[in-house]
Amino acid sequence: MPASAGPVAPEILADIAAASRILAARGVVDGFGHVSMRHPEASDRFLMPRALAPALTEPADIMEFDLDCAACDGDDRKGFLERFIHGEIFRARPDVGAVVHSHSPSVIPFGLVTAPMQACFHNAAFLAGGVPVFDIACDHGDTDMLVSDNAKGVALARALGDRPVALMRAHGSVACGPTLQTAVFRAVYTEVNARVQHWALALAGDAETLASLSDEEGRLADQPNQTAGRRAWDLWRREIRDQTGW
Ligand SMILES: [Zn+2]
Repeated sequence: MPASAGPVAPEILADIAAASRILAARGVVDGFGHVSMRHPEASDRFLMPRALAPALTEPADIMEFDLDCAACDGDDRKGFLERFIHGEIFRARPDVGAVVHSHSPSVIPFGLVTAPMQACFHNAAFLAGGVPVFDIACDHGDTDMLVSDNAKGVALARALGDRPVALMRAHGSVACGPTLQTAVFRAVYTEVNARVQHWALALAGDAETLASLSDEEGRLADQPNQTAGRRAWDLWRREIRDQTGW
């Protein structure tokens, strides 16, 4: 049984619970989906709610796991079945501080077709440079589609590579970032970008003709920790504080 890396500030636990509720309020998660954050004091631990609908998450629901996804200090509450998504991305990507997994509906079609997801506007600049598609069948054949063990998490992290977002065929997507705020921003704007691309494809009829951001435009416009990303978080966080008091 792994030991806890130590207590976490109440404000951080509240931010993780708020992130769960923000993602629900923005239509990124519904009854399913989850967000996690690396432990601020220990790179080999992460924090994640127990298994429950994200909109119901309270700060007291946050659990601590090691990167094998075992709960610390014998916490016997039920964790999410797909927590291996988070553990293996944290293991593979030292630059990642937070991960979001969702089944947001506008994104799913791009994991089913050959037309790639493109960065259709500046708030989704982080998508420029490519959005890989993880196909769980490549390594694991026929499954229930869930990333429910370490080996499947490893395969997903490999497909993600060094990118901020990966699609999961016939399932959903993952978004990650250096901070909780950036991962939430990217998850929200991946869903918005998918809607914009559907509208653009309805007009254009051809993914090849979309005037989306170039790789270099994406690099220049991807400033998640500067004003735009922070402003969005401050707004969304305030809405949750007004509802919950925390
Ligand atoms: Zn899932």
